[in-house]
Amino acid sequence: MRTLLQPPPAEEVGRRLTEVRRRITALAPDRAVKVVAVTKGFTAAAALAATAAGADAVGENYADELLAKHVALDGKWGLPLHFVGAIQRRRVPKLAPAVACWETVWRPEEGRSVARHAPGATVLVEVNLTGDTARPGVAIGGTAKLVAELSSFDLVVGGLMGVAPLGGGAAARTAFRSLRHCADDLGLAELSMGMTDDLEEAVAEGSTMVRVGRALFGERAAGSPIAP
Ligand SMILES: *Cc1c(COP(=O)(O)O)cnc(C)c1O
Repeated sequence: MRTLLQPPPAEEVGRRLTEVRRRITALAPDRAVKVVAVTKGFTAAAALAATAAGADAVGENYADELLAKHVALDGKWGLPLHFVGAIQRRRVPKLAPAVACWETVWRPEEGRSVARHAPGATVLVEVNLTGDTARPGVAIGGTAKLVAELSSFDLVVGGLMGVAPLGGGAAARTAFRSLRHCADDLGLAELSMGMTDDLEEAVAEGSTMVRVGRALFGERAAGSPIAP
């Protein structure tokens, strides 16, 4: 596991969350958009700061890092914990007691594993918005079939999650729009899309949940990936 960075003081995280909410409200004044504070790369203090600041959830990417913080926090994250990293089935049993929402289910066997170890859990289906098959996520054309299959397990499929091509702008907007259309077609309410660098594009396209790390906690240590 990498060395974890100390987050900024809780008051500073609070000011940054206010700024993130201002960016959201400017584009979506009439609806609530949840902020998932992505704490990967930072110590457990980041989760406490996010809680004090009034974020809606905490997001973690890596099983080992999450479990170390779970111990440090004595299980008291303060906020619902979202798993936003690559799901390794052998890690699911240990993660299950801590995780409230699995945002990155994109293979039936991952869903089956979550259903077995966390019956009734809420999951989102991760859709690959980049067209790069080396990246995680089900192809958009395979989403309906996967949602139907997952819905036959003991799971609640709450919506879709996606990571846009890096760089924001028109390409990100197009990707987010396709995800929104897909969720609309399937009657799914939750749309987890938008990170620090493409928050505006995502909110403008109907995001209901943004996943924000760097805007709240600062840059992560060099070499730490943006996404799994
Ligand atoms: C790291 C990560 C984020 C947060 O990214 P920032 O650029 O720090 O806001 C969001 N979603 C996923 C899946 C991530 O891995």
